[in-house]
Amino acid sequence: MKSVKDYIRTIVDFPHEGILFRDVTTLFSDPRGFRMAVDQMLHPYAGMQIDKVVGLEARGFILGGAIAHQLTLGFVPIRKKGKLPGATLSESYTLEYGEAVMEIHDDAIQPGEKILLVDDLLATGGTAEAGIKLIERMGGEIVGCSFIVDLPELGGRKKLEELGMGVDVLCE
Ligand code: IMP
Repeated sequence: MKSVKDYIRTIVDFPHEGILFRDVTTLFSDPRGFRMAVDQMLHPYAGMQIDKVVGLEARGFILGGAIAHQLTLGFVPIRKKGKLPGATLSESYTLEYGEAVMEIHDDAIQPGEKILLVDDLLATGGTAEAGIKLIERMGGEIVGCSFIVDLPELGGRKKLEELGMGVDVLCE
């Protein structure tokens, strides 16, 4: 039987020479692969109280939307700078390929809400750390950070665990 990892392809030299890009679009486009990934991401959180799912742009929207629907929860996007129409909070961060700013609507999370943070891939952890800071600035309590892929050599998991986060990944 195929595992989640078997549905992910690696593209050589994207977006720069020397980068092995994990392409999850081949996972998303397969009905068994996509369901397997969503079900496995949900598994560690069965029975836990969660109030909202927060997804990181852009593939975190696809996974987070499916997870929120499955749990009958609301979904909140964290987007790259300038995309959200309402008043926002911002966090700048360093990512694998440069600098960026992430934003969240400043009324999207209420203090004390329990949040599941979702993205496709954890590399250096910079993107997820920006998301964590935004959620915590709004008083959200993060119950876990869930990713399909971890690239352990880039240290993201360690970084998030040092911030006190529970981290779940499906494959390396
Ligand atoms: P980090 O901030 O260095 O952890 O990078 C993670 C972010 O960059 C996530 O939002 C990913 O979607 C994206 N990313 C970095 N490398 C890859 C890759 O190889 N495949 C898919 N997304 C990636």
